[in-house]
Amino acid sequence: MKIYNTMSKRKEEFVPLTPGEVKMYVCGPTVYNLIHIGNARPMIVFDTVRRYFEYKGYRVNYVSNFTDVDDKIIKAAQEEGVSCETITERYIAECKKDMASLNVRPATTHPQATKEIDGMIEMIKKLIDKGHAYVAKDGTVYFRTESFRDYGKLSHKNLDDLQSGFRSLLVSGEDQKEDPMDFVLWKPKKEGEPYWESPWCQGRPGWHIECSVMSQKYLGDTIDIHAGGEDLIFPHHENEIAQSECAHDKTFANYWMHNAFLNIDNHKMSKSLGNFRTVRDVVTENDPQVVRFFMLSAHYRNPLNFSKDLLDLAKNSYDRIVNCASNLRFLMQGKDTADTTLAAGEEELLKEAEKFRTEFEKAMDDDFNTADAISAIFELVKWININASADNSGAYLEKLHAELAELSDVLGLIVDREEDLGGNEAKEIEALIEERQAARKARDFAKADAIRDSLKERGIILEDTKEGVKWHKA
Ligand code: AMP
Ligand code: ZN
Repeated sequence: MKIYNTMSKRKEEFVPLTPGEVKMYVCGPTVYNLIHIGNARPMIVFDTVRRYFEYKGYRVNYVSNFTDVDDKIIKAAQEEGVSCETITERYIAECKKDMASLNVRPATTHPQATKEIDGMIEMIKKLIDKGHAYVAKDGTVYFRTESFRDYGKLSHKNLDDLQSGFRSLLVSGEDQKEDPMDFVLWKPKKEGEPYWESPWCQGRPGWHIECSVMSQKYLGDTIDIHAGGEDLIFPHHENEIAQSECAHDKTFANYWMHNAFLNIDNHKMSKSLGNFRTVRDVVTENDPQVVRFFMLSAHYRNPLNFSKDLLDLAKNSYDRIVNCASNLRFLMQGKDTADTTLAAGEEELLKEAEKFRTEFEKAMDDDFNTADAISAIFELVKWININASADNSGAYLEKLHAELAELSDVLGLIVDREEDLGGNEAKEIEALIEERQAARKARDFAKADAIRDSLKERGIILEDTKEGVKWHKA
């Protein structure tokens, strides 16, 4: 299994720290707003990485934080005249709803920065003791970047270039730094801001130290995979490495994974362009499963453009998978699936169908190539459409359905939709279809057409097939 490692800029064979286990940390959102559709990309991508590891038999300890102390949170709280906690609790709850709608599973642990302050103070103390950090006059604690020889190794930046870049950017108020590249570990509170007691001043942690501490606490000094969007490579992840490796004298993470950005209609998403889309809006207007399918239709390291046309295309493609599963269930109706006896020739066919699983795994083993994995699922769908009929045994149809559902589930895609599974609405629709069939038998075509039209108005499409009437949502 190969993973592209941002650190080495190469695909590397994955070797876990502990056999059979994966320890991974994914930088989570800052919670001051509903999450946007760009934030959903790392959530879906790394949830899929986790699912694939589990499919391969690994136990995955998946940690993803909520950053719940930040300037943007303080601003949002002030604007609404409520506490920061009111804002963060609200948007953590909303974020969890959005994740669930996209079938992103909750992390093993979702730590929150504000609940880990003691650990941050301990790590900062350690860095000061080891000469990697210093306290300025006003109580700000800075990381001494020059003390870490490997600084720049993840972003492949050269220290000298960085230094000259920073010098030209030097802004007032930062002159208490020993070096312009130094970054904040702890900063003094301003009037009206949340703060914690510390040996240096009443204040709050810098952003980078939060992840270093939460990753170490829940996963250990060295972890397998650290991940996030590519905007985090520098400075966030570079600074996390500096802090953690200086504090513990160990490699922080063995593999660094970064997803490329999602753009909207070929533009960067930004508030000023007015093209900012929340996940909530997008999943209200579209089937969230289609949104998930869309996100995985490109490789995670390629930029992805989000547009209505592309979502429509994704819907058509995803429907082909759902319809195939629905057809299999239809063919299974009335068959004894508990009877595992296969009919003549079916065993060979099932063996043939396994080649799509092999293709799927080959794609996923190659740095989680979900685009190719989806192609393998389509090949399987095409094959099933040719090789499954009402003449097959229940056991055979069941096995094909299981393969389709299992591979789709690795991508977090649900093939058995509620409408097919006999919910109240489905029962009502099926009753109407029966009534229409009865009307046709009685040659009351006006009534039969009226039922068909009323269903069509509700977005239910009927299909007359040789096996009977089938329906699906438009
Ligand atoms: P933030 O709340 O801005 O720290 O973002 C949370 C996560 O979403 C980080 O991993 C970011 O890299 C990622 N992210 C933010 N915007 C986008 C985008 N447009 N496309 C893909 N990932 C993004
Ligand atoms: Zn982080």
